[in-house]
Amino acid sequence: MIKDKVVIITGASSGIGEAAARLLADRGAKVVLGARREDRLKEIAEDIGEAGGHAIHQVLDVTSPAENDAIVKLAKDTFGRVDAIFLNAGLMPSSPVSALKTDEWHKMVDVNITGVLNGVAAVMPTFLSQKSGHILATSSVAGLKAYPGSAVYGGTKWFVRDFMEVLRMESAMEGTNIRTATIYPAAINTELLTTITDTKTAEGMKDLYADFGISPDRIAEVVAFALDMPEDTTVNEFTVGPARQPW
Ligand code: NDP
Repeated sequence: MIKDKVVIITGASSGIGEAAARLLADRGAKVVLGARREDRLKEIAEDIGEAGGHAIHQVLDVTSPAENDAIVKLAKDTFGRVDAIFLNAGLMPSSPVSALKTDEWHKMVDVNITGVLNGVAAVMPTFLSQKSGHILATSSVAGLKAYPGSAVYGGTKWFVRDFMEVLRMESAMEGTNIRTATIYPAAINTELLTTITDTKTAEGMKDLYADFGISPDRIAEVVAFALDMPEDTTVNEFTVGPARQPW
């Protein structure tokens, strides 16, 4: 049941995170929104409140362990517990390796990998002590297949895939009752392409998304489906994308 679950969402200021926040709140979850753009978070939380839902927000840079700890604390102080975290913050400044955009490589590692680890580390003590919890993460179809231009981005998303699967296995073995769900989206119309600085890659991606892109609401539905499963059931992996996109 989604109703009354306390769900932290990272990368909640736009795209998939925003769509998930709005949908989960609409279904009765108490959502805790984190990202760097506070104005956007505030607006989304206010909209949710005006529609009769429960949403709070706090500035969160997922690369900071302290800020991840702080948002978990905010959730607990406000709502008394945390039931789930949706590790969704990410960026995709794709480019060919030969372009040597090394700063962007490191940024992707920091946000897409370290950010996920920080979120897990922040929430795990709570989940272990309450003997329940749900960790959801946004990987990508680039975490399932290799795409030219996505050597580093894809690598970060392969990491998410591996980490989440091992977490699922260990949780089952240890009986911690921590569930996982990993989502592998294809082309979803969000602000993601704005992080691409390589002109040729940006143009190719823009055309691809113009042809195929679908609404982030579709991913929000999958998040809701995973969260809605009974405690004894993990639905673990979802590949979701435009019906017309061959991927
Ligand atoms: P958006 O660019 O719309 O959203 C990205 C979100 O991540 C924003 O809310 C942004 O907020 C947040 N973010 C970025 N850096 C940080 C940071 N350091 N700390 C906290 N939050 C951060 O794109 P999407 O909604 O598409 O992206 C969501 C996830 O989906 C990403 O992990 C992406 O890789 C993945 N994905 C998307 C696909 C697509 O086609 N759109 C396909 C496959 C996967 P802010 O800038 O305010 O911090």
